[in-house]
Amino acid sequence: MEHTVILGSAFAVANAEQENAHLLFKSAERVVLVDCGNNPVGKLEKAGVHINQITDLVLTHAHADHMGALPLLLMDMWLLKRTAALKIYGLPVTLEKANVLLDIFAWKKWEEMFGVEFVPVSETAVETILDASTLRVQTGPVVHLIPTIGVRAEFKEIHEVVTYSCDGEPSAGLDQLAKGSTVLIQEAAGPGKGHTSPTEAGQVAVRAGARKLVLMHYDAARAETEMLAESKATFSGEVVLAKDLMVLN
Ligand SMILES: [Zn+2]
Ligand SMILES: [Zn+2]
Repeated sequence: MEHTVILGSAFAVANAEQENAHLLFKSAERVVLVDCGNNPVGKLEKAGVHINQITDLVLTHAHADHMGALPLLLMDMWLLKRTAALKIYGLPVTLEKANVLLDIFAWKKWEEMFGVEFVPVSETAVETILDASTLRVQTGPVVHLIPTIGVRAEFKEIHEVVTYSCDGEPSAGLDQLAKGSTVLIQEAAGPGKGHTSPTEAGQVAVRAGARKLVLMHYDAARAETEMLAESKATFSGEVVLAKDLMVLN
């Protein structure tokens, strides 16, 4: 039951096979969607998850490829008669922008709209945002072009810890969040300011002590073999490239 599903694996530019980066942490009790740069409804259907099974939404940062489809996601939930409240977590500045985006569509006037609870997360420290019997989810600040959080999911019954770096360059904050992870999902759109290269991704995985590195949010125009080789030069564990609908555990 517990697993991590990559719903979209692309960086800011999507393509025919890859939607913008978003993923699901799923346990018996909670279904946590991370980001919604595009409407996840189609990919969720393919993953066997109904849009209204989502219990929690984490917005990592206010770039369009990570939260551009928020109004559409909430509208579809509403049209499909959602009744349960939805928790939306993010940095205060991210939630502020999310509200601006939603207000364009006058969402507060949608009839019989379900409850939405905005939950601000820490800008400075790793924080537990959800602690269910099978799944614990934490967030922590990482270093990107704008304020951003990474997300760590601990699947308690299967002893798997999966950390998603989200967008960002290597940083002490990411190292702290990822420490002790079994699987590191690492953006690899770099090198360059605010991003991580496949070579650096391998180094982050080593510091985390991970056994598996999943490169995500990478430039699809680059040769896959080249990116994998760069990571393998710095990390001796398993390295794979994220693809849409990949199930990790
Ligand atoms: Zn991005
Ligand atoms: Zn970004």
